[in-house]
Amino acid sequence: MSGSYEQADEVIMIIQRILKSENEFKDLKNCNIIARFRTGNWNSKGRQVLGRAKVLTALERYETKAEAVIIINKNAWQFLDDRMKEALVTHELCHYLVPTDKHGSPKLNKNDKRPVLQICGHDIEEFQLVVKKYGLWMTDTREFFDAARQGEQLSMETSKENNVVYLHMVN
Ligand SMILES: [Zn+2]
Repeated sequence: MSGSYEQADEVIMIIQRILKSENEFKDLKNCNIIARFRTGNWNSKGRQVLGRAKVLTALERYETKAEAVIIINKNAWQFLDDRMKEALVTHELCHYLVPTDKHGSPKLNKNDKRPVLQICGHDIEEFQLVVKKYGLWMTDTREFFDAARQGEQLSMETSKENNVVYLHMVN
């Protein structure tokens, strides 16, 4: 089943805000990343897809004057609060890699002289069952768990400030 696409100005504003404030994404600052909502049901491998980061083809680059697009599931978006929306957009931005030359400058496309982006995979590929049985045996999962603890701490502090109760908080 194919969905249809809509303008997603709210997502574009969040992308710009994150790129401005998050130094981890400094290489993406010179890239034009656009956003679209995808309407309709969107599932893959039995799960709802929340969003997708895509690098544009040469023709799409030419047509849109952008290098990448973040596609967001519009059905799911309406159920997310501001913090979750920002987390989702940050997730999609993490999928972009900017290859650099030997001087550390972003590699440019020879024809249009604009940055070339690549997609990178997730930090962790693991199953709950393995972690339940064997714990954090991989460096990847251990580092992920440490990051999760830091993030939960931050989110607890933020929710206290805003008097928000996070129902799905992990203890
Ligand atoms: Zn992802």
